[in-house]
Order: sequence, then C-alpha cells, then structure tokens
Amino acid sequence: MQFTRITHPSPTPDDARKAAIVDPGFGLVFTDHMVTIDYDEDKGGWYQATLGPREPIALDPAASVLHYAQEIFEGMKAFPHADGGLVLFRPEENARRFNASARRMAMPEIPEELFLEAVKLAVQTAANWMPKVDGGSQYIRPFMIASEAFLCVRPAKQYKFVVILVSTSNYFKGGVNPVKIWVSQDYVRAAPGGTGAAKTGGNYAASLVPQAEAIEHGCDQVVFLDAVEKKWVEELGGMNLFFVRRDGSVITPPLTGTILPGITRESLISLLRKEGLEVREEPYSIDQWRAEAESGELLETLACGTAAVVTPVGTVTSPDGEFTIGTGGIGQMASKMRTRLVNIQHGREPEADGWVVRV
Ligand SMILES: *Cc1c(COP(=O)(O)O)cnc(C)c1O
Repeated sequence: MQFTRITHPSPTPDDARKAAIVDPGFGLVFTDHMVTIDYDEDKGGWYQATLGPREPIALDPAASVLHYAQEIFEGMKAFPHADGGLVLFRPEENARRFNASARRMAMPEIPEELFLEAVKLAVQTAANWMPKVDGGSQYIRPFMIASEAFLCVRPAKQYKFVVILVSTSNYFKGGVNPVKIWVSQDYVRAAPGGTGAAKTGGNYAASLVPQAEAIEHGCDQVVFLDAVEKKWVEELGGMNLFFVRRDGSVITPPLTGTILPGITRESLISLLRKEGLEVREEPYSIDQWRAEAESGELLETLACGTAAVVTPVGTVTSPDGEFTIGTGGIGQMASKMRTRLVNIQHGREPEADGWVVRV
C-alpha cells in the first residue's frame, strides 16, 4: 500500500523540540506526526494510508468506539542502536498480538507487513525526537478504533488504525526503584472467557479504581488475583510477574486467557533459561508468595513490560498486612536481566534470535 505524505504545516521549532526531549519522562511528549490507515468493509478492507501531522481525529458522536469500546492497542519501543541507527525489539510479535487482540474484539486484522511498515515509517519520521539521554527511547502506540456511526450492538464495519509516538526517558519517576504493590481483593482485572489476554482499553478502565486504591495505600501499582478463587497471582495493571526462588527455579503465571501475553515476559523466559534457570509457567498463590518471602525461599519478584523493562517488586501490601521481598531493594536477577535486555535492545550485546530489527 502506498502511503500519502502530508507535509506538516508547522512542525515544532528546533529549540522547543530539543528542550522537550531533554527529560521527557513518560507519556507526555508527543512527536509531530502520525500514521493513519482507514478500514471499510464495503470498500474491501484497508485503504488510504497516510503519514501526516499529528492532529485530532474527527469522529461522529455515534462512532461505536465511544459507546461499545471496540478498541485495541499495542505498546512497543524504538531504540537508538550502538551503531547510530534505530531499531525495534521483536516488532513482529506486536503485530501478531495486535491481530490476536483484534480477533477477540471482533475487529478486522491488519496485515502484519502493513502494521510494521506503518510503525517503521512513524519512527523514521520522528528520528529527531529521540531523547539523547541514557534510557531514552520512542514509545510507539499503534491503536485501532471502531469509527462507524450506529447505535445497535454489532461489530463495526469501519475502523481507523493510528500510530503515534511519545518520546520517553523513564517510565517510573526516579528511575529503577523497587515498586510497592497493592493486592486488590475487591476488584479483578480479567475473568476466564473475558478479554484479559487482549490489549484493549476496557481492561485498563477496569483497573483504574483498584489502581487508585493502591495509591491511597501508599503503593505504586496494583496486583490482581484470579477472578474465580481470588487466590492465584496474575499480573499487575500492565506488567507480568516472575518469582525468583532460592532453589534456582523461576515461576511465572501461565497464560490461561486472563493474563496479557507480554513480549518482555516471553523474552525473559528465554533469557532466564539461557542462564540455566528452570522457568516454570505455573500458578503461584498469594499465600505462597507471602510464605516464601517470609521464609527466604523467594529471593526476588520481577515485574516486566515494555514501558518499565524489568522492575523489582519491593513490598506487597494487602488488608492482611505487608511483606517484603528479599531486602526490599534491587535484587541481583532484576539488575542482571534488566541490563541484559536493555543491552540487547541497544545493540550493545549480541543476540542470535533476530529480536532486534532495523528501522
Ligand atoms: C502490555 C501489557 C503487558 C506487557 O506486555 P509487553 O509486551 O511486555 O510490553 C503486561 N500486562 C498487561 C495488562 C499489558 O497490557
């Protein structure tokens, strides 16, 4: 598909752009451009691919995304490579997962090559927005919304696929600090048969009240238990978990449909196995978490995701009390795995799996 290029009438002036990317933090410093591709069932599918200025999207007030939440997204990053170029980390996995989310939300799939082309075009166009700081990256947010105007309940026939970019330094303010976790007992994120494995906005909307509860209790993030027994640890609002044990085993909750299949999770499983550790995908209960933290059997708990890479969990708080993981600080495995992953992503360490893809 040919992309139509619309020249930006008033790009951000050089000095304003440079000032904005000195320490952009996370989620606020948007680049000047976006890519859009439209979909219409009656026009035979995807059409009108455009690279143009980042601007508001006009939607009819009856657009079904506004009423019935047909929406999916991805989160990925572009990194400056050691040789001066730009790279993506396992972008085909994001394309594949985007389509898996689309199927669950009764939305059309987008050809993987078109998804990747759109992402690469957006990243190339924003090359001068890459923060020069250590840990700087472009966070890429591809998403799709149902744009057809109607109020009956059925899958829409028209959609819009969009890619925007945000210049990023650190996801958590203050760099790599152990996070404090709040155990939600009143709320669940996902139930069996629900949409927990799809990257869809509704899962996040449902997590906001428990997340606010976490903040009220002096914690940074909320951890969700399974919806049926309220016993098994599933994941954080947007990160997967690993439990590193003294006997050399590592446990991560299995993908049963209620957990988002993280690409960082999958990468960590592979890297930990290469370290000679035994990684098991099996259920881990909140009681086991507390007992093993208290007995010292549990050395570390790692939270992982694209935005924050690998972050140690320091303490876990619930209405039943609080427990500390290890020393409550940054454990060996957390810093080792974080460094390995970051080095691979920046081309400072070789990898043989084709994870790093040039833009
Ligand atoms: C995106 C996401 C993750 C992490 O996935 P990555 O591919 O590693 O970034 C974990 N949990 C949830 C709920 C997510 O939405």
